[in-house]
Amino acid sequence: MRATFANIYMSHLRKNISEIRKVLSSSTKMCIPVKADAYGHGAVPVAHTAIECGADYLAVAAVSEGVELRKSGITVPILVLSLPQPSEFTEIIEQNLTPALFDSELIKMLNMTATAMGRKIPVHLKIDTGMGRIGCRVEDSAELAKLIVNSQGLTLDGVFTHFAVSDSLVPEDIEYTNRQIALFKKAIEEIKVLGIDPGICHAANSAGIFMYPEAHFDMVRPGIITYGYYPGDITEEYLAKHVPGGIHLEPLMEVRSSIVAVKNVKKGDSISYGRRWIAPEDCKVGVLPVGYADGLLRRYGDSLKVTIGGKLYPICGRICMDQCMIYLGNDDAVSRWDEVIIFGPICQGALQTAEDIAKHTDTISYEITCSIDKRVPRVYKD
Ligand SMILES: *Cc1c(COP(=O)(O)O)cnc(C)c1O
Repeated sequence: MRATFANIYMSHLRKNISEIRKVLSSSTKMCIPVKADAYGHGAVPVAHTAIECGADYLAVAAVSEGVELRKSGITVPILVLSLPQPSEFTEIIEQNLTPALFDSELIKMLNMTATAMGRKIPVHLKIDTGMGRIGCRVEDSAELAKLIVNSQGLTLDGVFTHFAVSDSLVPEDIEYTNRQIALFKKAIEEIKVLGIDPGICHAANSAGIFMYPEAHFDMVRPGIITYGYYPGDITEEYLAKHVPGGIHLEPLMEVRSSIVAVKNVKKGDSISYGRRWIAPEDCKVGVLPVGYADGLLRRYGDSLKVTIGGKLYPICGRICMDQCMIYLGNDDAVSRWDEVIIFGPICQGALQTAEDIAKHTDTISYEITCSIDKRVPRVYKD
């Protein structure tokens, strides 16, 4: 196997799901988002384990992601969160995926295809209460629900919305989320007034689950917390104060590599493209066979450190497509073939998590794990 690989700790997945359960009532369903290859962790193995842990639904972004799960033998409902295009309708219907819809044109088009195929398929109505992405206006939701239930080829399996700032502790953002919740309740009421069963009502993403218990409705959609990272301002410390017993999440992904060469360089020698790093002394530089094509993005370079033998060492010079170099100073503790942890759960020996890298590089943990390329083999650990 390649020197560069990612361990995925499935025991942490199980633990995170049971931590999330702590704040849910026993009747609340769980829809686990496994879009983007389960945030980079591998959709098929994550989905199977999540189902073992009681996941009721899975969510994907693309129809192709849903098809991959069905081909692996998954039978639970799979919600497709992003809009499909007409050329994907047949596949949605054949694979029994549950698309999100929000406008009469798409509802009518999908209904025509389903009817022509002699099928009746579940759909969820997406309502935009303030995310500003996809979703119908609150005032149109009852009419659209009616259009769905009156469509011979469709059933209304659920209605949902998505929060824009549920991970923020800024008072205006909390007010905004409360307004989104109120609007969603209003939409549900208006659907019910027409005598229509809205099906499964769901709204909460990771942050919403911890911050807004009244937004749990019938089902929740915990993404990033399933993978072991805290969302936005909702840190472990914050939860320790606000949830009895606190919430202890463990990251699943650990990206490892090993030192494939140690070089002695002279004071003044330059390292890598652009000659941006010049050796400050006679010293040692290690070579790692991991680069931006593996998802160790070039812009991480200036602040990235890696763990070797329980100590952090900085990257030196530009990260290349397939390789990068680390500054070892004159440390004799490090030698060729030593294992390197780029990021991972602290409990497994890493000194930094994807969250730490995200903080230093002006992004979020989501982007760090999603960026780890398919070229990096995933090794599933129990
Ligand atoms: C990705 C996504 C989620 C999960 O969000 P997290 O912040 O990772 O919990 C939930 N709902 C929708 C619609 C999404 O697109």
